[in-house]
Amino acid sequence: MQLVCWLKYIKTTQKLLRSSCIQQFSTSMMTSFRHKNAKRIEGLDKNVWVEFTKLAAMPGVVNLGQGFPDLPPPSHIREALAAAAVGEDFMLNQYTRGFGHPPLVKALADLYGSVCGRSIDPNKEIVVTVGGYGSLSSSIQGLVDEGDEVIIIEPFFDCYEPMVKMAGGIPVFIPLRPVQEKYEQGMSSSGDWKLDEEELASKFNSRTKAIIINTPNNPLGKVFKMEELKIIADLCIKHDVLCISDEVYEWLIYSGHKHVKIATLPGMWERTITIGSAGKAFSVTGWKLGWSIGPKHLIKHLQTIQQNTIYTCCTPIQEAVAQGIRKEHGILKEQECYFHSLPRELEAKRNRMAEFLHAAGMMPVIPEGGYFMVANVSVLNVDLPKTEGNEPYDNLFVKWMIKNKRLAAIPMTSFVSDQAKSQFEKYIRFCFVKQDSTLDSAETILRNWK
Ligand code: PMP
Ligand code: GLN
Repeated sequence: MQLVCWLKYIKTTQKLLRSSCIQQFSTSMMTSFRHKNAKRIEGLDKNVWVEFTKLAAMPGVVNLGQGFPDLPPPSHIREALAAAAVGEDFMLNQYTRGFGHPPLVKALADLYGSVCGRSIDPNKEIVVTVGGYGSLSSSIQGLVDEGDEVIIIEPFFDCYEPMVKMAGGIPVFIPLRPVQEKYEQGMSSSGDWKLDEEELASKFNSRTKAIIINTPNNPLGKVFKMEELKIIADLCIKHDVLCISDEVYEWLIYSGHKHVKIATLPGMWERTITIGSAGKAFSVTGWKLGWSIGPKHLIKHLQTIQQNTIYTCCTPIQEAVAQGIRKEHGILKEQECYFHSLPRELEAKRNRMAEFLHAAGMMPVIPEGGYFMVANVSVLNVDLPKTEGNEPYDNLFVKWMIKNKRLAAIPMTSFVSDQAKSQFEKYIRFCFVKQDSTLDSAETILRNWK
């Protein structure tokens, strides 16, 4: 008996020794050069969504930060997903065509063919991707080379800059600036934020490969007007530059404004990739399905990226989105089409938010589209705690607001280059694609601000 115990003891000791050796070995390897990051991701480890989504998830915080609806998505698309998963055609649970599920690319070609007034080849002019993100990433990876310059309009959806850098490209920034006199009246419009034509022209040169535009813009909500897009298009044509047009909020346009697709301007189809998102179109951001549409000589490079990275997207989700698009396309001219009823519903929420932010003493910028509103908060003169380093004002403000007011937003400087932070740090971004009860809670916090 004693011998058995003794043998057990020896075995356990050996096991422990072995695992501690492995641990020691792996600790020394942690510092080894083999564990160092690839150069292409050097300095890109910080991310606003990782940082602020965690803060916004603290108990009792009203989350108007990351942009996702807390409204129910249309029931037809959820039912279509359930049916795709459990219906008779069980093959809808298997891989589908890599560049896009055939019924989906057909539905997209039909819808965008009629929106753009041209015929779109479903197999050669469309790639279905993992969200709008996937389209941005494969456009940039497939088209931008080491040393290429890519013009980015500030403020911009934050991933444009790291994506360009990961491809070896050089981001060249141009800011939208508010027209001062109008802005000083307390409330202003995202339409008052404009590009300076000469400054924009000065950014184009022989190294410029592409410009990324985003209309409606996140975070400002600016909907670029035909005249503004013409200026950009003329410069693209003059300098033979590509355009990556992020239009994930294309249907969220408010009264008095119109979404124009730059790809429909003369000479632009052949140089433009237009990006869309089912997450935004149907309020299903968790489905992560998007698409790129453009001429086949550009789309084929995105297809090369797709076949060598993710290969294909989730089949049942593509099937459900195909059915959803077919349904909404069929009623596109009717009031009840979700692409029109959602912005109608959101316009009332936008107006309500503008009113309560203004009443709390902030200076909101009323968006013409999208589902975000930025507001100048510097006028509140909040006495923020001092910190070491040079963290921008808006970052400190949002952290303070989450901790002390239990209200989450996103700092505007997350959407600009390092050099421009001081120009934008007075603003923070609120999301208004929320149930009335969520907006009620935010309003109560703001009305009791003092
Ligand atoms: N572009 C913009 C401007 C966005 O705000 C987002 C955020 N969703 C995306 C692209 C990415 O879209 P998705 O969620 O479909 O990946
Ligand atoms: N587009 C959304 C936003 O701007 C979500 C971004 C994200 O989750 N990365 O809030």
